[in-house]
Amino acid sequence: MKRIAIIGLGVSGSYLLNRLSRDHEVVGYERQKEGQFQAVCLVPETQIITSRGVIPISEVRAGDLVLTHKGRLRKVIQTFSRYYSGTLVKVTPKYTNLPIRLTPEHPIRVTRSHFFKSPHPYEWISVGEIADPDQVKMCVPGIAKDQEVKPVISPRLIGYYLAEGYSGPDETYFYFAKEGEEDLVDDTVNLLKQEGFKCHVEHRETSCAVVTYSLKLANILRQFGSKAYEKHIPFDYVNLSQGSIVELLRGLFRGDGCRTKDGIALTTSSITLAVQVQLLLRRFGIFVSVRQDRIAGGDTSVINGRLLLRMHTSFRVDVNGRINELLESFGEDALTQYSWSHADWISRTNNFLIPIRKYESEEYNGLVYNLEVEEDNSYQTIVGCLHNCAWGTSKHELTKIMKPLGIDFQKYILFNGKAMQVDLGNGKSRSIPLKGLVTYDKHQLEVDLTKGKKARFGVKATPTMLKDENYDMIIDCTGLHRAFLPKIKNDMWVPCVEYKVNYSDGKTPFEDFFIRPFNQLSGYFWYFPLEKGSAYVGAGDFKKEQNEFVDAFNAKNPGQIERKIGRPIRISPPKYCEPFYIGNVVGCGESIGTVFPLLGEGIIPSLQCSQLLCENLDNLPAYRKAVLKKFEYFNYVYDIINLKLQGKFSMMKQLPLMLKVYREMKKMEDRFGMEIRLNDFKTIFNSY
Ligand SMILES: Cc1cc2nc3c(=O)[nH]c(=O)nc-3n(C[C@H](O)[C@H](O)[C@H](O)COP(=O)(O)OP(=O)(O)OC[C@H]3O[C@@H](n4cnc5c(N)ncnc54)[C@H](O)[C@@H]3O)c2cc1C
Repeated sequence: MKRIAIIGLGVSGSYLLNRLSRDHEVVGYERQKEGQFQAVCLVPETQIITSRGVIPISEVRAGDLVLTHKGRLRKVIQTFSRYYSGTLVKVTPKYTNLPIRLTPEHPIRVTRSHFFKSPHPYEWISVGEIADPDQVKMCVPGIAKDQEVKPVISPRLIGYYLAEGYSGPDETYFYFAKEGEEDLVDDTVNLLKQEGFKCHVEHRETSCAVVTYSLKLANILRQFGSKAYEKHIPFDYVNLSQGSIVELLRGLFRGDGCRTKDGIALTTSSITLAVQVQLLLRRFGIFVSVRQDRIAGGDTSVINGRLLLRMHTSFRVDVNGRINELLESFGEDALTQYSWSHADWISRTNNFLIPIRKYESEEYNGLVYNLEVEEDNSYQTIVGCLHNCAWGTSKHELTKIMKPLGIDFQKYILFNGKAMQVDLGNGKSRSIPLKGLVTYDKHQLEVDLTKGKKARFGVKATPTMLKDENYDMIIDCTGLHRAFLPKIKNDMWVPCVEYKVNYSDGKTPFEDFFIRPFNQLSGYFWYFPLEKGSAYVGAGDFKKEQNEFVDAFNAKNPGQIERKIGRPIRISPPKYCEPFYIGNVVGCGESIGTVFPLLGEGIIPSLQCSQLLCENLDNLPAYRKAVLKKFEYFNYVYDIINLKLQGKFSMMKQLPLMLKVYREMKKMEDRFGMEIRLNDFKTIFNSY
């Protein structure tokens, strides 16, 4: 009898927990809470700081880099959303009028310590548990400095451009007021000359423009945005030297700023720029306020003969505490009177302590979102299990695999497919007869497999956590994460998104399974029917266009979106996912690449992999050999996909490879749940 830990109770982990518990002492660890869907979330418009700007959480994608609670960028692994109807907590911190609206379970990072009492240990508490908002301060981290970067051109010139500039295809304009800004005009002209760009000054009725016709300069400056509301600073500019930051801010504040009673302020129509200024100043230990205003201005349009002035949102950045230090570095006169800020002072501990100004609640009906972030996962204590849902698989193979465990697969089936339509583009399609392809309740099956077994839910296991537990074997079933095995070199995965949609009156867009491959077979769109007028609508695409495609489909075929999952699928076959075992850790399932690369279909292969592990538990070299042999045909498919993606695929040249794949699949029609016909292969490959 072995002492075994199974990490991850998804497809392969729940199977192994059930089967191995019969002869061994087994404990399962699953980071998500038992039987719970994701419990914590934010409203779609919540602004998230990412490397590509400040964007609403609903637009953050897997693979984006977001700023974490450690003040550094980390990759988003999964995005989640679900329908929520209930109470939200609305927190408005000091230094902003932009509230955060979140479900009560959502944790926030706070300290209960008084401003003046150092240290300020922080903790994560559910926002709904805050009994007295006056007793806690929100903890916002300083910015972790990475390797120093150099600005592409004079940082002060960048600052003027961010404030006053516009770049067309090969021309750049720096606009200034006709009167009172002559010194800025001279400064811009001098800086341009120093950088080797010719320029001239155009005097207009109310403004004065410094104009250059240089393709090179226009290209450089366009990376900071062309129009005012697009202006931004590349994220890695937080790693500029302090001198360069001062110069950049000096240009920006001179151009767009003004003196206030107790500090200086800047107005911009770019929320990204406003927040980035805040980030740059955090490097100096200064926390500035960012507020939203709605002001009239900008574009006009004529409707029914009336001239309408469009409303723009603008953002105001106010710097007050420690302002004199900043002004001094700008070469400006100090203020004699200014308000001192707690946040500035506390910054010495590398945490800004932000009091809560307003704490309210409100009712909400709609989608809410959450993110899972690599390493620092600021959401890590609370992300639930949205991946648990209905999926497509073959009922024959699942019935065969589950039977020895005493589980009747039939009762989990939601929809039995008859024929799958494949859209070939140009109005053509092909119908593939199905032989047992179904959608089933994946979550319920996993719950039933783990019922009565020793499992710890809501625990994100790490090698350090299990170091002293002395397990004989640790099975890494963590899928894409490979939490206990070394990272794979050149890992290949496809970003995916999937929505569960309910169509009113059962009017579904399709009656059966439907797929539409993308060009070069870079991925495909799928429509999987579920019970009672609902379906899973999703897509995966190497070219990362899955969201656009699914969003367009949903806009054309509106329904009630119940939940969404966005996470990549690993498609590197086992051959490229070695090592399978190291020390007392062994991988199983998607963690070692058991996903059929052409379809991103991993349920059956991961269960087959679990069977192989059970059969070879005492002989891991034999397990490795068996896995490589069983999934050898994945390598051919993987090679074909790579050739297709590189535009190097030729039906003539790759016919032997195609035939190999076809013959393997043909032998396994029941396992794939569909008729495998050479003609379908050829047509689909030739169409895309
Ligand atoms: C959008 C989408 C749609 C898909 N559709 C299909 C489909 O229709 N048919 C099909 O066959 N395949 C489909 N797949 C692929 C399939 O879901 C996976 O390949 C399969 O689930 C892999 O099984 P697994 O057991 O290896 O990993 P998973 O089922 O992914 O399970 C991994 C588990 O590990 C847990 N975990 C991770 N890290 C830790 C940790 N440190 N501590 C504790 N727990 C941890 C996770 O919470 C998760 O529960 C789809 C994938 C995606 C993303």
